[in-house]
Amino acid sequence: MTDKIIILWLRQDLRLKDNPALVAASSYPILPIYINDTTATYQTGSASRWWLHHSLKKLQDSLKGNLSFYQGDPQEVLLNLLQRFSVQGVYWNRCYEPFQIDRDKKIKTSLKMKGLDIKSFNGSLLFEPWDVLKNDGSPYKVFTPFYKNGCLSRPAPRKPLDVPQGLNLLKDKESFLLEKFDFLPHHAWSKKLENHWEIGEEAAQKRLYDFIDHDLRHYKKGRDFPAQKTTSRLSPYLHFGEVSPNQVWYAAQTQKPDDNLIHFLSELGWREFSYYLLYHFPHLPHQNFNPKFDAFPWIEAPSFLEKWQKGKTGYPIVDAGMRELWQTGSMHNRVRMIVGSFLVKNLRLHWRQGASWFWDCLVDADCANNSAGWQWVAGSGADASPYFRIFNPVTQGQKFDPEGSYTYHHVPELKNLPIRYLFNPWEAPQDVLEKAGVILGKTYPFPLVNLQQSRKEALEAFKTLSSQISGSTPNFPQGIQHRCP
Ligand SMILES: Cc1cc2nc3c(=O)[nH]c(=O)nc-3n(C[C@H](O)[C@H](O)[C@H](O)COP(=O)(O)OP(=O)(O)OC[C@H]3O[C@@H](n4cnc5c(N)ncnc54)[C@H](O)[C@@H]3O)c2cc1C
Repeated sequence: MTDKIIILWLRQDLRLKDNPALVAASSYPILPIYINDTTATYQTGSASRWWLHHSLKKLQDSLKGNLSFYQGDPQEVLLNLLQRFSVQGVYWNRCYEPFQIDRDKKIKTSLKMKGLDIKSFNGSLLFEPWDVLKNDGSPYKVFTPFYKNGCLSRPAPRKPLDVPQGLNLLKDKESFLLEKFDFLPHHAWSKKLENHWEIGEEAAQKRLYDFIDHDLRHYKKGRDFPAQKTTSRLSPYLHFGEVSPNQVWYAAQTQKPDDNLIHFLSELGWREFSYYLLYHFPHLPHQNFNPKFDAFPWIEAPSFLEKWQKGKTGYPIVDAGMRELWQTGSMHNRVRMIVGSFLVKNLRLHWRQGASWFWDCLVDADCANNSAGWQWVAGSGADASPYFRIFNPVTQGQKFDPEGSYTYHHVPELKNLPIRYLFNPWEAPQDVLEKAGVILGKTYPFPLVNLQQSRKEALEAFKTLSSQISGSTPNFPQGIQHRCP
């Protein structure tokens, strides 16, 4: 035991259980800190700021008030602490976003030069991206070999760690109050999110075991049906590190080893794959993974974008998804794919416009998963859905919301329309519309684009790519918002 302290810099690991940096620091007095990094080159989205605020509040309670808050350049904050405390070292769990990697490397080098013990740990991935490589040393670009040959053939992921006993936690009396951070979005919209989520480590554990006890056994079949709520809804907890993937991985494996379990674990594998791609291809959030798409003739149509954002496209399953996002801060995975395909293929708007809106509205907005998800949908990503696979929002709705309960719920102006016309109201006879109280163009929009025509045009636009030389200048529409990292 020594009088010198360890600064525990908490970032996307807002939990006490299975926190490797906390365990490593536990034989020292610990100053747990959170820094609102004002040097970040991107803005955290509105829904994420709302989540983060509440998550930090919960963590503050778990640490019995001993979490110290700061704002500014993390390097300066840490240097300032070195002047005021007798510091043995600084420990943190690694972040994998390119901007954070660059920042952390610089901080590590400069603090090490001061003779401090600087240690970083893996608290948010099952496998380190640099450990999983092909035989020739290059990174995988296709999911199945990455997961099966790369991940599953390696030693099993680390088992979750307990919270260390007898922690000696310190508080800096000169630190900020959490309330001083301007995190909470100023509009009333964020209030609505409160009805849908419980935040923090305890809530994450409750969600995890609720899922494992009730829904995991229906996961494989149920995961595609948004009305069934069969998926885990763990993504925001994983993003903020209120639960670790290791905890989820091992908790799930206490259940019967059937197809449901295998499928669920492989979704955690997709999360690993997204982080892996982001690590090895740090331009993923900004640039097409497949440079052939740099020459794609995207369209500029702000009015289309706005109608998509507001859930007023005239395609009920698309509108249901976009309204679910606005109301709850989340959207079911199947519907993310449908609304994404509609934006990128039927409206032919750039995938970055979709990614940007998701970034602002999702409580699970995650640089790796969002970038990989959008590039997958657009066809420009690694192991992506081919561009010519264009989801039909009518048949997707009929197949995955067969009773319409998801769509009726989020698009209540169609609640009296018979299921036969729910996903294609423009085809309903006039008397059916009248009986349901639907006036197209008034109570519910006409379709924004014609499905067959827009599909044909998207395929024609795609064909132009085969004649393009890869690596040409990216064709981003002007005025595109660059909010995500
Ligand atoms: C266009 C698009 C954008 C997306 N943006 C995000 C995002 O910003 N943040 C985010 O966490 N996920 C994103 N996803 C992936 C996926 O939709 C969500 O992770 C999932 O819907 C979360 O619900 P769940 O926790 O119930 O998932 P479950 O089905 O219960 O899966 C368990 C966990 O596995 C991971 N996972 C599941 N599916 C995927 C996937 N396709 N890719 C990567 N990881 C996955 C998540 O961490 C999830 O919590 C996006 C997908 C698409 C198509």
